[in-house]
Amino acid sequence: MTTRKILLLVGGGHSHIQVVKNFTHSTHDTQCMLISNSPVAVYSGMLPAVIAGLIPYEDSLVHLQPLCEAHNFHFIHGTVTQIDPQNKRVYFNAPQSSIQFTLHYDVLSIDVGSRTRDVNDVSQPTMTNAKTQLPLIVRTRPILHLEDSISEYESLAKEASLPCARVVVIGAGAAGVELALALEARLKRSLDETVVRIVSQHDTLVSQFGRMSGAAVAAECRRRGIQMHIGQPVISVKDGVVRLKDGTEFTYDMAVIATGAAAHDWVRRTGLVTDEDGWLVVERTLQCKGFADVFAAGDCISFGGAFGKQFPPKAGVYAVREGPTLTHNLQKVLGNRGTLMEFTPQASFLSLLSTGDGRGIGTKHGLAFKGTWVYRLKNFIDERWQERFRVSWGTDGRVEDGQEDVDGQFDGTAAEGAALLLCSEDLNQSDSFEKQLSVLRRMDCDDDFREELLKCVQST
Ligand SMILES: Cc1cc2nc3c(=O)[nH]c(=O)nc-3n(C[C@H](O)[C@H](O)[C@H](O)COP(=O)(O)OP(=O)(O)OC[C@H]3O[C@@H](n4cnc5c(N)ncnc54)[C@H](O)[C@@H]3O)c2cc1C
Repeated sequence: MTTRKILLLVGGGHSHIQVVKNFTHSTHDTQCMLISNSPVAVYSGMLPAVIAGLIPYEDSLVHLQPLCEAHNFHFIHGTVTQIDPQNKRVYFNAPQSSIQFTLHYDVLSIDVGSRTRDVNDVSQPTMTNAKTQLPLIVRTRPILHLEDSISEYESLAKEASLPCARVVVIGAGAAGVELALALEARLKRSLDETVVRIVSQHDTLVSQFGRMSGAAVAAECRRRGIQMHIGQPVISVKDGVVRLKDGTEFTYDMAVIATGAAAHDWVRRTGLVTDEDGWLVVERTLQCKGFADVFAAGDCISFGGAFGKQFPPKAGVYAVREGPTLTHNLQKVLGNRGTLMEFTPQASFLSLLSTGDGRGIGTKHGLAFKGTWVYRLKNFIDERWQERFRVSWGTDGRVEDGQEDVDGQFDGTAAEGAALLLCSEDLNQSDSFEKQLSVLRRMDCDDDFREELLKCVQST
């Protein structure tokens, strides 16, 4: 008699939902389980558009229980607090319970994301106004609570009839910028008057995407009346006052901390190898260092400098890209056969920011482009991703897949390609995004075309 092996996935992150969907197994041989502290996973790429009121919240959610049921995984709603890799055990609490449960595994995978990295001196206000219950400090992660926290602020600000609502977003990476623009778009509809500020410790906004994108984002913030404090580390966020290094001080009713990712504290205590920042150190096979039967993916990992310090950055695109390698390798390790795949993170990726008003700013190859087509393209990519994890049962009981890909490659000249990417938004109003997407795709695979197009842009 053979005993069933147990595959245990901890966390419903971007890599694990792909494992659930694509892992092929017989329930006779393997018992598959996913444990997550929430029954839904939020797709962060869509959240700024949700906050701006462009799409419903529901569209950004993946419901884990039906997804698991459809693919023969058992879903457990619980918060993992400890892992014992020597004895192959995971400890967790059921929701709102302090009773600890234990699970045994044969093969484990961890995709639990990250928490918000704090700025120097942040403390929840010791005193909130008894009438308004403001100010509020909101952290971007856990991302599941972000929309609720912002809705709560909006309700409190409305009830208090604030003459001028004062919001500050601290951190001007992609998430911070998208949130500032989304909040401006949302709050100007619901509140009388709003001042939105964004603070960056770097000397540009979205510094990771280069100067051209920084300039495009700064121009958009200026156009929308968002006040920028650039090159200014935050010294403290206390009792309704933000203090910057240059001595600037301003008050706020809501401070959104969007300062990037930090590792969960409990992960450091698992006995698995972590780096100095607390990220789980993995091999290129996504196996945790020193443990062939423990894998990890997404924000919570570090490749231990294999691809350069702090590369890849903490972005959902890498968690997404790791999914197929993770699925393949889990399959091989559980089947005791075959070669494991190695993951190589892509050097750069197409970044598409929603500006909260139905337009977007995109970045690739150091270029920045903007317009309604950018948002339409973003929405298309995001929708197509989400569609893969919506469980809809076909008439014959089969689980049906999402939409088809967009075909075609641009065959015009580099100058025509540049004109398409950079032409004024108005010209693109009635356009779709297919032509621009085909230009971007050709830039990815045709080096001469890309170089020539970049030269065309520099000379304009
Ligand atoms: C506002 C915002 C916008 C963003 N936009 C983008 C974007 O457009 N593009 C992009 O590439 N990146 C974006 N990011 C970054 C992106 O959100 C993360 O890099 C990505 O979510 C990481 O995916 P992950 O799979 O590692 O973890 P997550 O998606 O965070 O998933 C972690 C999962 O683990 C579960 N979990 C956590 N702790 C436990 C526990 N103790 N026990 C059990 N379960 C647990 C969680 O509930 C969740 O299901 C954005 C971030 C923010 C804050």
